Amino acid sequence: MSIELKILNNSGLKKILVVGVFHGDEPQGEYFINEYLNLQKENLKNSLYFIPRLNQNNARTNKNGVDLNRNFPTKNWVKSNKDDYFGGNYPASEEETKFLVNLIEENKFDAIITIHAPYKIINYDGPAQGLADEISNILGYPVESDIGYLTPGSFGTYCGIERNIPTITIEIDENKAPQELLGRFIMLFNFLANKY
Ligand SMILES: [Zn+2]
Repeated sequence: MSIELKILNNSGLKKILVVGVFHGDEPQGEYFINEYLNLQKENLKNSLYFIPRLNQNNARTNKNGVDLNRNFPTKNWVKSNKDDYFGGNYPASEEETKFLVNLIEENKFDAIITIHAPYKIINYDGPAQGLADEISNILGYPVESDIGYLTPGSFGTYCGIERNIPTITIEIDENKAPQELLGRFIMLFNFLANKY
């Protein structure tokens, strides 16, 4: 398995990580990221680190049946039932999880963004309320600080709550064609590259 990491402007002021397709049945992020990477860009202020597609499987879980967003080595990780939310046999059991854990240990990210579907909200963990408000203005989804259910072993808990990195979980509208949402995502990536 190879996870692609694409870095724009390695010497930028801030380092921002954007992760697409945590869940394989929410594929839109890969499209937004690849379309943005194809555009001409000049004088970026910040460094953007893109993972277009974390989960190569075409289902919510990875090829081992693990929900990657429940597999992070957090204090609240629990061994759960083998359903669509299975957190793995132990924390960070999965290659995808280890890849992100290593990346976050090796880089001091100023913000981390992940792209999910379908709740039409901007959720955040850690000191990210201001950034969540900015992203809400760009994408037109309301900010929700609490997604309404427990997410043990989540990426947001790992990065935002336990490491104090501003972490945003974008939940897009899956009923809209990705082409309809692309313009907003290009605005978002331009904001992250130049204004944040
Ligand atoms: Zn998701």
